[in-house]
Amino acid sequence: MTVTHTVLNQPPAHGPHDAYAEDVALRDAVHREGAGWSEDTLVEVGRLVGDPAWVERGRLANEHRPVLETHDRYGHRIDRVVYHPAYHELMAAGVRVGLHGAPWAEPKPGAHVARAARYVLWPRIDSGTLCPLTMTYAVVPSLRHQPDVAGPWEDKALSGTYDATEAPVAAKQGALFGMAMTEKQGGSDVRANTSVAVPIEAGGPSGAYRITGHKWFCSAPMNDAFLVLAKVDDAPTPSCFLVPRWLPDGTRNTFLIQRLKDKVGDRSNASSEVEFEDTVGWLIGEPHRGVRVIMEMVAHTRLDCVSGAAGWLRAGLVEATWHTVHREAFGRRLVEQPLMRNVLADLAIESEAATALSLRLARAFDQADLDTHEAAIQRIGTPVAKYWTCKRAPVYVAEAMECLGGGGYVEESGMPLLYRQAPVNGIWEGSGNVQCLDALRAMHRSPESIEAYLAEVTPAGEADARLARAVEQLRVQLTSVDERSARRVVERMALVWQAALLVRDGDAAVADAFVASRIAGDGGLAFGTLPGGLDEAAILARVAPWVA
Ligand SMILES: Cc1cc2nc3c(=O)[nH]c(=O)nc-3n(C[C@H](O)[C@H](O)[C@H](O)COP(=O)(O)OP(=O)(O)OC[C@H]3O[C@@H](n4cnc5c(N)ncnc54)[C@H](O)[C@@H]3O)c2cc1C
Repeated sequence: MTVTHTVLNQPPAHGPHDAYAEDVALRDAVHREGAGWSEDTLVEVGRLVGDPAWVERGRLANEHRPVLETHDRYGHRIDRVVYHPAYHELMAAGVRVGLHGAPWAEPKPGAHVARAARYVLWPRIDSGTLCPLTMTYAVVPSLRHQPDVAGPWEDKALSGTYDATEAPVAAKQGALFGMAMTEKQGGSDVRANTSVAVPIEAGGPSGAYRITGHKWFCSAPMNDAFLVLAKVDDAPTPSCFLVPRWLPDGTRNTFLIQRLKDKVGDRSNASSEVEFEDTVGWLIGEPHRGVRVIMEMVAHTRLDCVSGAAGWLRAGLVEATWHTVHREAFGRRLVEQPLMRNVLADLAIESEAATALSLRLARAFDQADLDTHEAAIQRIGTPVAKYWTCKRAPVYVAEAMECLGGGGYVEESGMPLLYRQAPVNGIWEGSGNVQCLDALRAMHRSPESIEAYLAEVTPAGEADARLARAVEQLRVQLTSVDERSARRVVERMALVWQAALLVRDGDAAVADAFVASRIAGDGGLAFGTLPGGLDEAAILARVAPWVA
């Protein structure tokens, strides 16, 4: 083959690096929110996600879609999903570093913050594996409603071993969990569920029910057990059941995987539709109170939606800055072009604000049982933070992709997968409107959550008059929020909260730019519209060593 040219002006490959050490905003937040003790593991995760061999595993797991095998060669149902080996390697690594449940296995102050920080790093290699890891982490508070049934399951869920074998839980080294709420006729409104559960008569397993119905979404269907909502006795509200894939006697439970979803985003993890036909499940919590039980799981998955969104923003920022530092146009590196600097600085402050918010919220999860202020912040802060960080992710990733020019639109850059993934956390576990309505419900049913929120953001106003004015305006708005205005108010709450975190404890240049553009209104609708007079150099110097 004839070599016709030398490749010029393309960025070098991003070699092995420590993604945690390079992320000053994340490091600062980890220390601020009480998880400085977890740095050894964060460095391990940072090096892992910065290792090209693991990036390649993420690529392979997404390149080779999971395959559903409903029957074996003799016609028996097997309902098995076969994943690429890279998926299993990613899952094993995720479990090893505690993404599936470290805060429950080793509870200590800052444990949820420490895990959230690992979670922010993980999307650099893959987002699909985060789904089963999240569900296993999140299920634990719900399982604790029924320790007699769930105790052995919790032990296996927290064992720290990834075990993909198909077997009853007693024979496994580790177990993973999923959830199955959504049905065809109702997702947000789970009271519309039509699945029914009937107690098993004497002679069957004790405390067990037979469930018949369907689930329109059931992600990670190879997980070992699922929390499933189904109605008992024609009650208007569903009950919650633990449904294992294998029964204690070593037979398969009836868990009919109908098909896999052809999703927009990651291909590494499978999402499916399932049918239950006399499927055995054990009641968790009181009958007819299933929504209350499973909402504890949902609250923790929503925390992960925030951390995941923060991770996508950071991943986009890394790619955008790596490219613009190493690429020239019109006689200067892109990162030196004034308009590109404005775009990058705007992306940088958005990413830092999302990271700060994610870890602050995680601290509320750490301390909610001990401190009423933190419990109130957890209640109102979860829907507020989920709504806004997830809403920002798709538009943010699109802008980061644009920084790479045409190459960013090509699969091998990794940006298209990130772009396709970015909307999912806004839909999953309660879509945008549902989050805003949940925040509204918190305000009405737990007015102390508004007080807690205002106590959280007000002190920062002493350091910034623009923020103080915004807090006072919000204080008035919060007295008369209705359904129609919920998005307006929740968006403002998120922005004011992010600003308060940055002003109070963050970098001065980042805080100034965030307040000017997001609070004082001196910015546009697109990224790259920061006003003049800001310390862009200081903002960009924080992003990563290659930018400074
Ligand atoms: C990749 C993926 C994986 C998933 N995995 C699982 C899983 O493992 N288990 C599971 O149970 N589910 C899963 N889901 C389902 C998901 O949680 C639901 O799709 C989601 O809760 C929305 O429900 P729905 O699709 O029925 O939409 P709907 O409830 O019909 O909502 C449609 C739209 O209407 C809005 N809306 C709803 N109510 C109101 C209202 N009162 N006022 C204003 N607007 C409203 C919503 O915000 C949304 O924008 C998954 C979804 C995806 C995309």
